[in-house]
Amino acid sequence: MNDDTLDLQKSRYARQMRFPGIGVGGQRRLLASKALVVGCGALGSVIINTLARAGVGHLRIVDRDFLELNNLQRQVLYDEDDVAAGIPKAIAAYERLKKINSTITIEPVVADIDHTNIERLAGGAECIVDGTDNFETRFLLNDAAVKLGIPWVYGGCLAAEGQSLTILPGKTPCLRCLMPEPPPPGSSPTCDSAGILGTIIGVIASFEANEALKLLSGHEEAVSRTWTIFDLWDNTIRQIKLEPAPAADCPCCGRREFPWLSGQRGSHTAVLCGRNAVQLSFPGRDAISFDELEKKLAAVGSVSRNKYLVRAEIGSNTITVFPDGRAVIGGTEDIAEARSLYAKFIGN
Ligand SMILES: [Zn+2]
Repeated sequence: MNDDTLDLQKSRYARQMRFPGIGVGGQRRLLASKALVVGCGALGSVIINTLARAGVGHLRIVDRDFLELNNLQRQVLYDEDDVAAGIPKAIAAYERLKKINSTITIEPVVADIDHTNIERLAGGAECIVDGTDNFETRFLLNDAAVKLGIPWVYGGCLAAEGQSLTILPGKTPCLRCLMPEPPPPGSSPTCDSAGILGTIIGVIASFEANEALKLLSGHEEAVSRTWTIFDLWDNTIRQIKLEPAPAADCPCCGRREFPWLSGQRGSHTAVLCGRNAVQLSFPGRDAISFDELEKKLAAVGSVSRNKYLVRAEIGSNTITVFPDGRAVIGGTEDIAEARSLYAKFIGN
């Protein structure tokens, strides 16, 4: 045992190294590892808190949003001072994490992750962890991860239910093997319409962070080979066994087509001059259901509808949605804010 090993054993990681799955060797690998965590909201704040404490040597954390009071119920890294200061989540997270572990590198990035920056942001990462709230970004992450051969961990939560899945490109099914298309815009509830419990966030984010720790400490063999779905209110855990290999006909990992990464799919945005509004459009997406959308928006604002559009007034924003999912978000000229409002109130 050399001095370095003795230092590690006396270190903050002593209890973690005592666990045989990690050990001294695994801890060394963690300290030399690099991970990208996309989203510093509910899932993201638990994930980065756990990974920073565990000693992941380089954490790149990306988020496009600012803090709001209703975040504090589940976004465990933040406090009332952060909300009052109105600072971006990635920066608030950075300020907190560097007090938790000053010995690692934490790189905050305030950005809307999209096809123009994902490959640069994923550069050098050994693992990508999903702390996002929408399928558009997850399909982009899936394209990038498969193209670059980087394992990624998917997680999502709504109400009291949450799910997670780890994707080893070329070895296990990717997101598109299991879900060829994202759900049409407005078709599924969001946290703003269906609510969310902080407890399910803790479960899923810990599950995701645990998968990341296996990957980053060099234990790919320990990674879950199931799609795991928890419902904390109904007391159920479902584990769907994955096929042992990716689907041969998957457009992503089979044919290596990456339309979200090329920008052919995903939202297109434009600031509407002089209107204090941003337009988002989604080429190639299915038509949306106005009935479902109206019901969902009525839970968070005042809604009007005709056969051409659904319009909701939510706080200082007006959201107008057309049958093809195109939306005009009024009350902002900030594209990242508009995309964030779309994900929150309309969703995938
Ligand atoms: Zn696939």
